[in-house]
Parts: sequence; structure tokens; C-alpha cells
Amino acid sequence: MGEAFDAVVVGAGTSGTYFSWKLSEAGFRCLVLEKEKLDSLGRSIGPFHMEEPAFERFNIPLPQGDELLHRLETITMWSPNGEHRVTARLITLDMDKPAFMKRLRGYAMNSGVEFREETEFLGLVRERGFPAGVRVRGDGGEYEIRCRLLVDASGMRGAVRTGMPSTLWWESDPLEDMDTLVVYMESWKELEGEHNPGINSYLHFQGWYAPSYGEEMIVGVGMPASRDAARKRHRAFASTLPFRGVTAWSTEGRVPYRRPPLSLVDNGIMVMGDAAFMNKPFSGEGVTSGFAACRIAADVAAEALAEDDLTREGLWPYNVRYFRDQGAKFAFLAAFMPAVVSLSPREVDFLYSVPGIFTEEGTVALNLEYEMRSDPVETARAFPVLAGGIASGKLRPASVTRLALMGSVAAKLRRLYEAYPEHPATFASWADRVRPLWRKADRVRHDYFRKLVREWA
Ligand SMILES: Cc1cc2nc3c(=O)[nH]c(=O)nc-3n(C[C@H](O)[C@H](O)[C@H](O)COP(=O)(O)OP(=O)(O)OC[C@H]3O[C@@H](n4cnc5c(N)ncnc54)[C@H](O)[C@@H]3O)c2cc1C
Repeated sequence: MGEAFDAVVVGAGTSGTYFSWKLSEAGFRCLVLEKEKLDSLGRSIGPFHMEEPAFERFNIPLPQGDELLHRLETITMWSPNGEHRVTARLITLDMDKPAFMKRLRGYAMNSGVEFREETEFLGLVRERGFPAGVRVRGDGGEYEIRCRLLVDASGMRGAVRTGMPSTLWWESDPLEDMDTLVVYMESWKELEGEHNPGINSYLHFQGWYAPSYGEEMIVGVGMPASRDAARKRHRAFASTLPFRGVTAWSTEGRVPYRRPPLSLVDNGIMVMGDAAFMNKPFSGEGVTSGFAACRIAADVAAEALAEDDLTREGLWPYNVRYFRDQGAKFAFLAAFMPAVVSLSPREVDFLYSVPGIFTEEGTVALNLEYEMRSDPVETARAFPVLAGGIASGKLRPASVTRLALMGSVAAKLRRLYEAYPEHPATFASWADRVRPLWRKADRVRHDYFRKLVREWA
């Protein structure tokens, strides 16, 4: 093997690019492999959203010019019957993804990162149990590159993760379609009728509408597993909106919806972004939540490379710092959200009518801090109303039981993640406590996903 790098990163998506930028700034030599042409990245998505405070948090200059499509000031959450809504002030930037990715790549290149496009990671080269390099196919055929650290940022199919042998610390099971949401979006032009400003979100359809390019409007839904069902559900969602339009273009993709691997590291290897299923459990968005992990991973990788300790022990602080913070919040939400979104439209309408459940503060806390927050006084006031809802048939007892059960499972998961093992030696007993809770959460989510797919088949 000829060339040698401190780190080889597989995938030039937002995660791989941001991670390599930060690691290179810390003084290490990084190579990013990308199987597609770099200029094509982001085109299949088009417009995308990031909350404005994320730019300062991750030290990325704000977008300007054509990259910035709209600065949206509010998010409105609508009840299924459209009678109730909660509007919160939350600045979100609507941007052109290819332009954003090009700019991000520019920062990484300026700090010394090398990108190799149309170069596919094929497999790992191991020496004495450690990754010592990678086998790739690119310009000039197949060849090998040496590296000290290998990073999987290859998106949800996890090209590196799934090719590794499973160990106590490394899960290599492939992502099943039933653990994904198909995101289907149409951009409408020639709009007729009233529409609300900002981002508009509909829990029941996991649907939304928001400004797109120019005067166009994006109308999208998320739907488990099935592409056909996603289109049908989209048609049904569109028919409930108070405005109409002509479809200018449409696009579709998938986002992962499952728990992350229980460990994000093993000897000489790290995983992040969609490859580790780090998407926000309430929206499926994954850019800023991926950045949060990448920033920790880059700090830990820099220290491990400087100490020349690329063992799982040396890389373990990435697990600890990620899972005790964002990972714990996401564990709670990933376990609890399916119980919430599986409520019937009538039940969600009823909950919207109860003061203190869907609130402005709650919307901001969920989107910015990933917390489900409730005011204890308001919650206490809500109890008799909820009991009244059950008595009058507006809330099914089974739904309330499921919410209570999954609330308890979710809270236990959060506590366990907040106490993520400090050292790999105590990981096995922690994993034994976590796995049964995830099995319960997965059962509820899969039951709900299957029901939805049957309903919209
Ligand atoms: C329709 C749609 C709309 C979305 N909108 C938003 C939004 O508004 N806001 C938001 O935050 N998130 C959004 N998301 C989610 C967001 O796009 C992802 O969470 C994010 O792009 C993940 O970035 P990543 O770098 O982890 O993975 P990816 O973007 O998937 O990047 C992985 C890269 O690895 C490359 N790769 C894979 N295998 C190999 C290999 N063997 N060798 C070399 N390269 C390889 C791939 O080509 C790819 O470029 C949306 C997703 C979809 C589908």
C-alpha cells in the first residue's frame, strides 16, 4: 500500500465533510472517499432546512446569495382537522443543499482535506485485528490506501459498518426497510388559496409544507417502508390543505428510523451521521444532529491520533459524550414518538384542544433542545380533562395505556443512556439492560408501521 493518511472517511455527505474539516483543522491528514461525483451531491434533495442557531453552534458561516432560499421565522403545528394550531418563533434557514455542500467542502479543502470522487470503498484491510487501510475502486481500477483511523459516514446503508464482523462492541446488522421512512416531496407552483407562512407541520400525516425555490411550496410526507404508500398518503395529505398548486417537480428518498448502534466505535473505527441513524426522531432531519456527533468524534479522534491510541478504549469517549447528551434525548424520543404519532386523528384533535399539551414553549424545546417539556401546573390541570376525554370516547383507553407504557420505557432508556458506561469493560452489562427496552419500543413501532403500510397500500 502506497499512500497513507491519518484518517480515511467514507462518504462526502454533510457528516463526512464536517468531520474531516474539524479533524483536519486539528492538524491531521484526512482523505474523504465518495462514490458519486462531488458536484452531484445534494441534488436529489434540493431545498433543505437547518435551524439558524446551528450555524453558530457548529461554527459555520451563515449562507448568503443563491444558497439561502428563505429565512423562515415560525413553525406552526396543526391539528388534523385544521381547527387548532400552535405557532412558535423559531428561525429556520431554507437552503439549496448542493450549494451548502459545496461551501462546506470548500472549508474542508481549505483546511487540507483531500476529496476523491467516484471512488468507492470496497472493504477493509486488517493487520493484527486493526483496520490498517481500505480497498477502493476509483480512477485507475482497484487499489489500497493506508490509514490509522477509518470513519463510516457513508449514509444509512453503512458501507463500512455492515462489512465489519459483529463483535460485542460493533453491530453490523443491515438496515431493514421497516426501519426507514420514505420521504416524498412535491414542489408546487401556481399556488391558489391561502397558505400560512413558515414551516407547517401535521403530526397525523408526518407531513409538512414550507417554501421551496422562488415562489414554489414544498409539500411532503414521511411514510414507513413503502414508496407506493408514501405517494398515496401524500395525495391524501395534499387534499386536506387549504391551497392547491401544480407539481413543478418531485423527489423521494429515505431516512433511517431506528436506534443507533449501541456503540459507535471499535478498534480503529468510528461511525456517524445517517450511518449511525442519528436523525431527529421527531422529524427525520439529520444534518445538524449529525454535526453534533461529528464534532465530538473529531475532538476524540484528534486526541486518540495524537496519543497514538486508536483502540476502542482510546475512541470510547465519543460514545460517552454523544450518548450521555444528544443520544440520551434521542433514545427517549425514538421510543416515545411512535406512541404519540400512532394516535388517531380524532385523538390528536382532542389533545390539541387541551391547554398545556401542544404549546409554543414545547415546540421550541423539542426543535432546539430535543426535549419534550411540559409545565407541571398545566399538566396537573390537564389530567381531569384527559380523564373526561376517555369517558366521552375521544381518547381510547388503549392509546392512553400505550402512551403511559412507552413513556416509562422511554424514560428508563434515557436514564440508562445518561449513565452510558465510562469504559468498554462495563459495556456488556449496560447493553443487557438496554436491549430488552429497545425490543419493547421496536415492537410498538413496527406494529404501528405495519398498520400504516396496510392502511395506505
Ligand atoms: C427527501 C429528504 C429531505 C431531507 N430534508 C432534510 C432537511 O431539510 N434537513 C435535515 O437536516 N435533514 C434532511 N434530510 C436528512 C438528511 O439528508 C440526512 O440526514 C443527511 O444528509 C445525512 O448526511 P450523512 O452525511 O450522514 O449521509 P449521506 O448524505 O447519505 O452521505 C453519505 C455519502 O456516502 C457515500 N457513500 C456511500 N457508500 C459509499 C462507498 N461504499 N464508498 C464511497 N462513498 C460512499 C454516498 O454516496 C453519500 O454521498 C432529508 C432527507 C431526505 C431523503
